[in-house]
Amino acid sequence: MKCKVCDRKAENEYCELHEKAYRNIVKEHDAWKKASDVSWKQYLNELVNNPYTGVWAREVAEHLMKSEEK
Ligand SMILES: [Zn+2]
Repeated sequence: MKCKVCDRKAENEYCELHEKAYRNIVKEHDAWKKASDVSWKQYLNELVNNPYTGVWAREVAEHLMKSEEK
């Protein structure tokens, strides 16, 4: 299998680095949901537009946004 984001070899949907970033995104979103009523899409949008988002997380967020639009 190939990583959905970068085409590197992957065990699951993502390669090791994107998998890690993805898990962080999900975890962070859970924390955000408790603090504010932000939707998954809004949250991904925030991540992509935040200059402090790491490169891996940004790539995953962009990928997730694209797959949301389908
Ligand atoms: Zn990857």
